[in-house]
Amino acid sequence: MFFLLRDPCGIICIVLTYLAVFYADYVVVKWVILQTMQNSLWGSFHMVMFNTIAFLASLAHFRAMCSDPGTVPLPHNRMDFSDIHSDCNNGTEQEDWTVCTRCETYRPPRAHHCRICKRCIRRMDHHCPWINNCVGEKNQKYFLQFLMYVAVLVVYAVALVMASWMEECPSCPIDITVRQSRILHTVLVLVESLLFGLFVAAMLVDQLQAIFGDETAVEQAQDLGPYRPHKPRLALLTEVCGRTHPLLWLLPCDTGVPYSSYQSDSTTLLTHEV
Ligand SMILES: [Zn+2]
Ligand SMILES: [Zn+2]
Repeated sequence: MFFLLRDPCGIICIVLTYLAVFYADYVVVKWVILQTMQNSLWGSFHMVMFNTIAFLASLAHFRAMCSDPGTVPLPHNRMDFSDIHSDCNNGTEQEDWTVCTRCETYRPPRAHHCRICKRCIRRMDHHCPWINNCVGEKNQKYFLQFLMYVAVLVVYAVALVMASWMEECPSCPIDITVRQSRILHTVLVLVESLLFGLFVAAMLVDQLQAIFGDETAVEQAQDLGPYRPHKPRLALLTEVCGRTHPLLWLLPCDTGVPYSSYQSDSTTLLTHEV
């Protein structure tokens, strides 16, 4: 299912994200590798490695942006909630099905309503404008992969730029304008790396805390937990990344059915319909 929200803020953020990744790739390839490592095998190696990581980061972002984050389906028939006193943000019926009055439907435990997506999302963590989508049960893996690959890309870009500054190379062009352009672009990419690096590191720590603490950002904000039984870290990661070999968790593609401890929405909803 192809998913794209028409939120202007989100669309600006995703354009900025892709521009930032492409600019870093352009500077590292054109102004670092091709200028300073042209005649060495290391040049080819770094060219392949850097582009592969940039491609994986972009693919993970694309999957996080276009995947269904775990939208709770709307009922086929109107439901009667007259005997239920609950609203969208009411979390008192913990670990139980609740009612969303905005979607007018029952929703599984840990699902929350997103005001931007205008739907309830299973195990919603937060709405992220940088992927123009919610981070939920079905796309959190891709979001994590995106953060991880960008973190690697930032460290890699900084290391390559530093190395190009420190080593005087005999084959580098001596034209002063070329040298000045190289310095300008590499300084810009360093500033960009620093900004993105700090942002991504903070997000990555946040996400890992949420996963290992078994408490989404929404639940933290609403002070809903932790009330679930303790689970090992590997089990918690499996819930997010799927029941496959951990090495496959690194690939931004469908490598396993995302874990869900509840029945499929359509069948369970039928039992709740009035
Ligand atoms: Zn809702
Ligand atoms: Zn959302």
